[in-house]
Amino acid sequence: MALKTGQQYIDSLRDLKLEVYAYGERIPSVVDSPLIRPHINAAAMTYEMAHAPEFEDLVTATSHLTGERVSRFTHIHQSTDDLVKKVKMMRAIGQNTGTCFQRCVGFDGLNALYSVTFEMDAKNGTDYHQRFLKFLRHVQTNDLMSDGAMTDPKGDRSLSPSKQPDPDQYLRVVERREDGIVVRGAKAHQTGAVNSHEIIVMPTSALGPEEKDYAVAFAVPSDTKGIVYIFGRQSNDTRRLEGCIDQGNEKFGIVGGEALAVFENVFVPWERVFMCGEVEFAGLLVERFATMHRQNYGGCKTGVSDVIVGAVTAVAEYNGTSSASHVRDKVVEMIHLAETMYCGSIACSAEGHRLPCGAYYPNPLLANTVKQNATRFIYEICRLSHDIAGGFIATLPSEKDLKHPEIGKYVEKYFSGVDGVPTENRIRIGRLIENMTSGTALVESMHGAGSPQAQRIMLLRQANLPQKTRLAKRLAGIEDA
Ligand code: SF4
Ligand code: FE
Repeated sequence: MALKTGQQYIDSLRDLKLEVYAYGERIPSVVDSPLIRPHINAAAMTYEMAHAPEFEDLVTATSHLTGERVSRFTHIHQSTDDLVKKVKMMRAIGQNTGTCFQRCVGFDGLNALYSVTFEMDAKNGTDYHQRFLKFLRHVQTNDLMSDGAMTDPKGDRSLSPSKQPDPDQYLRVVERREDGIVVRGAKAHQTGAVNSHEIIVMPTSALGPEEKDYAVAFAVPSDTKGIVYIFGRQSNDTRRLEGCIDQGNEKFGIVGGEALAVFENVFVPWERVFMCGEVEFAGLLVERFATMHRQNYGGCKTGVSDVIVGAVTAVAEYNGTSSASHVRDKVVEMIHLAETMYCGSIACSAEGHRLPCGAYYPNPLLANTVKQNATRFIYEICRLSHDIAGGFIATLPSEKDLKHPEIGKYVEKYFSGVDGVPTENRIRIGRLIENMTSGTALVESMHGAGSPQAQRIMLLRQANLPQKTRLAKRLAGIEDA
């Protein structure tokens, strides 16, 4: 059995020689970087929980390729039950980390490519699916974490890839060789990229016939020559360099660590190329990946929301407001919003269907609805958490002031709550709320897995308006074709 422990995952990252930059400096070791380490700890929970008896059924699955027990994050969905377990697993890991654990993007990339390579081969007689299966076995057997890299920088958003003044704004093939291809461009906002073993690249949008160079999908080890990562900033990130309780979620951080991944003439051998020029399948691959990633948001975000609901319940107790009826009502509203997202994720999974390759796929209309809800409900959950917690989460002095020999007593005294609760506990829970609900976390819930407008396009496409119109006309007694 090839299931890594959390520690084995972390150790395995030491063998990778990624070129990562942050704050204008090369990061010598991502594992030892205080900026990146919390994200690594969160991803490590996807490994660690596979070994916990109470989560084993959710976090592992039986590979349909090898019959071995593998991480669910490397598994191809074989039933609607697998789809439902995916969501339950994500909620459980979200509850235990309070943040993004990043491994789902590669998971969704694997599942999207599994079905699309099968359908491409069936139509064109290519051999992408067999190449992909070889890669999938490698990922399953070695329990690897992959980054699912879809989003291109996009330059001028009004122009298609081939019309950009700078052609690098969309990742593309710049050379076809006997032994493989050379690609150039970048992928933006790459969650977990700097702590993944593999990068799975896919196109970012449907493409026209003149855009063959952009219809490219492949996987390369994350430390392949020519890939440069520039790590993104987050709200309050320098607090990690101080190692203080002001971070809120000291061990796991907030949101996933995101990076810009630049591909500067990167060579990809043919056996790792899963699409090259099939423009007619680019849109389908994007749709499959996006639907599966949008399915997730009522899983991971509900798990994270569970922690926020718990935090406001605790802070209300510390503040002495827990029995106020408006506070209880706001907590109820937060629960309602979180469970509505969860309902959608469970529903789109239960309503999933079998694809020609035999793998299962969630209902796209419902999956897009889940993500659309997350773009609003997370903001509302966070807004209510600020309302209940009070202004102190935005004005707290630092841990250094709390521990200061002269003025510490003032912080201790004037930031206290009800009698008997240590001030430090109130500060800790306030910091947790502040960080879990701050800028970067909010924007991620808006744009992660695609911006709201991308879901609205899918909602319109999937809603079958002609059928709805027929229903209405029939009941209204209108006779036409
Ligand atoms: Fe996974 Fe995306 Fe949720 Fe992060 S935001 S935990 S990558 S589904
Ligand atoms: Fe995300």
